[in-house]
Amino acid sequence: MKPSPGRDGTGPADVRDLLDSLVARGLAGAAPTRAEAVAVLRTSDDDLLDVVAAAGRVRRHRFGRRVRLNYLVNLRSGLCPEDCTYCSQRLGSTAPVLTYSWLSTDDAVAAARAGVAGGARRVCLVASGRGPSDRDVARVSAMVDGIKREHPHVEVCACLGLLRDGQAERLAAAGADAYSHNLNTSEATYADICTTHEYADRVETVERARGAGLSPCSGLIAGMGESDEDLVDVAFALRDLGADSVPVNFLVPFDGTPLAGRWDLTPQRCLRILAMVRFVCPAAELRLAAGREVHLRSLQPLALEIVSSIFLGDYLTSEGQAAQADLALLADGGFEVDGAVPGVGAAGEEGTAARAAAGPERPGAMPGAVPGAVPDVVPDVAVRRRGPGTRVAPNA
Ligand code: SF4
Repeated sequence: MKPSPGRDGTGPADVRDLLDSLVARGLAGAAPTRAEAVAVLRTSDDDLLDVVAAAGRVRRHRFGRRVRLNYLVNLRSGLCPEDCTYCSQRLGSTAPVLTYSWLSTDDAVAAARAGVAGGARRVCLVASGRGPSDRDVARVSAMVDGIKREHPHVEVCACLGLLRDGQAERLAAAGADAYSHNLNTSEATYADICTTHEYADRVETVERARGAGLSPCSGLIAGMGESDEDLVDVAFALRDLGADSVPVNFLVPFDGTPLAGRWDLTPQRCLRILAMVRFVCPAAELRLAAGREVHLRSLQPLALEIVSSIFLGDYLTSEGQAAQADLALLADGGFEVDGAVPGVGAAGEEGTAARAAAGPERPGAMPGAVPGAVPDVVPDVAVRRRGPGTRVAPNA
């Protein structure tokens, strides 16, 4: 019997050749061609496990079975003057997310402490807004200093929006290790998702961060209506920018935002996107970010074969599954938490109280969902109601 062709018309032998070529290049740190990257996104479901296995070989070459845990601290939530269509904190958003102004230094350090106790080895300090004022940079510098004093082994990444002259240098001088600013989508479609700033502004900020000696973290959001070519374009742009960390987010289409109700992704599609980015950026710390629970659902374990980094617990404005479930996911897959300290967090007891206080597990599964299909019943996206900005214990 003649083998059935893949979605792009390629047969199994062609897919095997493609994957062999991608693995060889990935192991050498080289990029695929754009056509090959697009072809990964168009492989068939029959080839999906081969795609994951090939991306997994590239992942293990650099990262073994280690997974880095990152912990988000939302320093200022909502009330943003920018109009990014995907964002629940945008101008005009009616999403019922937490809104609050800057956390105090003590509260930010306490939130970071909970994440570190849970096993995180990078704390991401994030604030809504177009970009920080110099006063904001001073405020965040104090937080960085406070976290570093308590946890000198933990990396601190700031994510404060567009940077102006000298601000990256001040954050670096305060002890920040990294700066995060996503490109989000391709240059060609950027104007479709935001009108208040431009793609070039984002590129400039990532370059400023790198120029100041901060490790550049920059990623994308999938599921906003982009084409395969857009996804490949942004992946190559991230490679060209030299992003050390590449978060891949899957759109969480909050009610009250322009992209509400947009559930375009399937778990298989998410895996292909992750694999494509792994092949394009083989040396990057590829991070599975927002939307993993609701889009990958029962296929989360396969994603861990491709990525080397996840967020522990909750996201900026939505709740993730219980941190305990994150740790169980890693343990079940035979992964080791990068930089785990015996007796602390993932391997120990300090995080237990916070995890116990985090409330019931949110597995991200959907009643009535058909695995692999765009859901008829939309997943339950829980707005964050615990952790920073609340009196409820964090999910860590
Ligand atoms: S992504 Fe950032 S800049 Fe854009 S609306 Fe959200 S908080 Fe504001």
